[in-house]
Amino acid sequence: MNKDEERGFALEVVQQLRAAGYEALWAGGCVRDLCMGKAPSDYDVATSATPQQVRVVFGKRRTLPVGVAFGVVIVLAPRPGASQVEVATFRTDGGYSDGRHPDAVVFSTAQEDAKRRDFTINGMFYDPESNEIIDYVGGEDDIRAGLIRAIGKADHRLSEDKLRMLRAIRFAAKFGFRIESDTRSAVARHASEITLVSGERIYSELRKTLETTRADWAIREWYEVGLLKYILPELAALGDTERERAARALTACGPGDWLHKLCVSLWFAVKEDPTAVAPVVLSLRSRLKLANEESDAIGFCLQVQNLLRHSETKRWSSVQPVLANKHARQAVAVFGAIANGIESGHESLRHTHEWLVGQLSLPQKKLNPEPLLNGADLIACGLPPNPQFQQILGQARALQLDGILLDRRAALDWLAGNVSR
Ligand code: ATP
Ligand code: MG
Repeated sequence: MNKDEERGFALEVVQQLRAAGYEALWAGGCVRDLCMGKAPSDYDVATSATPQQVRVVFGKRRTLPVGVAFGVVIVLAPRPGASQVEVATFRTDGGYSDGRHPDAVVFSTAQEDAKRRDFTINGMFYDPESNEIIDYVGGEDDIRAGLIRAIGKADHRLSEDKLRMLRAIRFAAKFGFRIESDTRSAVARHASEITLVSGERIYSELRKTLETTRADWAIREWYEVGLLKYILPELAALGDTERERAARALTACGPGDWLHKLCVSLWFAVKEDPTAVAPVVLSLRSRLKLANEESDAIGFCLQVQNLLRHSETKRWSSVQPVLANKHARQAVAVFGAIANGIESGHESLRHTHEWLVGQLSLPQKKLNPEPLLNGADLIACGLPPNPQFQQILGQARALQLDGILLDRRAALDWLAGNVSR
């Protein structure tokens, strides 16, 4: 579905609920985006209908009861595989004894529903039929002023759901806004309570924040409000100058690719000590519940930086396995960001980066040629399969890559000579 169709479907959902006698409005992030003149990535609808009533209006087959206890139902577009809209009943959230989720919710009015939302910019409604913004919380003013402000008493709102501390910084980074001073002091007061939030949720906020164009600002802000030592202690432990370098290296990175930015910044924590890479990656993985693929990529990108730095003077046989690795592009990009970002003035590093990019664009047959020898050749030479196999094949591979063994004939001669010795 394209953007217009998505908007059309979100309008239809509102119209159908209204036709059935309920109040219905667009709510939250989509209203904020519209207000800023951006196309919303998705639409949420808030309504006076209860989840059961929503399911009656759209039919059981087109609704998914994803969070009925919180009043949330997903409504699917009639065409399978097309868009969906989250429809949530107006509600007031009860106490938050676990620091993250409301203990109970009570269905209520639009005005009450606005008050349970996190920040004023996220607390508005929009009537898609009359094209009016309905703003009970001063969200429009704060968008104009570029402010992230908690709805209600900041101290209370940030302590009841600790994730909001990270959300405040994420939205500020995403929109280039400031965090309003009461809200910011409340974040600073409650920072240590972020440990009540699950690793998965911290990870998701960290990732989205790094994906913005202001990841550098976010690192400084996390540090200043006291959150950095809980979410990226490796960076919090750096001296001011190094941490500032780590932040600055992200300035040149642009939007997207959080993993790249995480590696660039973490490199400052491990650069003096390659043996630190494995423990850092292990700790990240268990804290943030990273997928294996992600932590492998981070580990690889950090581990090979020193080798990449000196790659132009190293033997091809030591550089090639790095460039043939599936994470090679990522690792070279991290190297590029470090070389171009912080170490400006280091012409030779930039040259090395260009050289690496050139090597990566070699045809696969050149970058990673088929090995000249395999295990069968060793057996044919009379060697019984044993652990030495890998070593001999490794030696042959290095000689091949370094251009000493040019073809299979030469490799077989080399093997014969080696085995008989
Ligand atoms: P994004 O563009 O990142 O999706 P969003 O504003 O849509 O931004 P969501 O996490 O999708 O953010 O949440 C939708 C809406 O639900 C928010 O705009 C806000 O009104 C409300 N909301 C989400 N999380 C919280 C929270 N932790 N506390 C209070 N309100 C929240
Ligand atoms: Mg959203």
